[in-house]
Amino acid sequence: MTQRLEDGVAAHATHEGGYFPNKLVRILLFSLEEVLGSNSLRAVLTLARLPELADQTLPPNFEPALPFSAIAQLTAAIDEMHGVRSGQQLSLRTGHALFRHGIKDFGGLLSVADVAFRILPLSFRVRLSMEVLGEILNRYSDQRVRLTETPECYLWIMERCAICWGLQTTYPVCSLVTGLLTETLYWASGGRSFQVEEVTCIGLGDPACMFRIGRMPVVPA
Ligand SMILES: [Zn+2]
Repeated sequence: MTQRLEDGVAAHATHEGGYFPNKLVRILLFSLEEVLGSNSLRAVLTLARLPELADQTLPPNFEPALPFSAIAQLTAAIDEMHGVRSGQQLSLRTGHALFRHGIKDFGGLLSVADVAFRILPLSFRVRLSMEVLGEILNRYSDQRVRLTETPECYLWIMERCAICWGLQTTYPVCSLVTGLLTETLYWASGGRSFQVEEVTCIGLGDPACMFRIGRMPVVPA
C-alpha cells in the first residue's frame, strides 16, 4: 500500500472509517440478491436506510461508494429482519457468493486460477489464496487485513473491518468474512472444506476481528 493511500485511509478513519468502492458494492449487491432474493434485498436496503441502492446499477469502478458505517448497517439489517441465527447464516452464504462474483472481477485471484496453481502443494495454495484475498481487500476496500499463523492454525486478523463498523453486538457478527474465506479456501484447495471461525470481533469490543482457520481440510477429499 502506498503512503498516499495510507494518508487517505487515515483521513477517512477519523470520521467514517473508510469506503467500499463502487465495484465492491456492486459485487456485494449481486451476492445479496442471489442469497436473499430481490424482494428481501429491497426490504434489507430499506431497513438499512439505503433504499436508493435497490434501483441503481453501480458502475464497476473504484470510486468510493459506501462508507463502512453503511456496510455495517446492511449487516445489522439482515440480522434484524431474519433473526441473528438465520441472519448470520445468510451473511455466510453471501460471503460464498461474494467470492464467486468477485473472482470474475478481480484479476489478482484469476492469475492463480490456472494449471500452475493447481499443482502447487495444498498448504501453499491455502496460504497463497488468503494472501491474495487480503491484498485485494487492503488495496480496494480500505479495510486492514493481515495473515499470520501458529502451528495449529492460520489467523486472519482485521484491525479495520467494515462488516461490524460502529456496531455493538453480543455475538461475533462478521459471518460474511467467514463465508468469503471458506469459499476462497474451497476453491483454492480444489473443493475441500476448511473450518473457519470468528474468534474475536470488534463489535464485541475486541481490538480486531480475528478468524481462526484450520490448517487442514475438515473432510479429506
Ligand atoms: Zn468485523
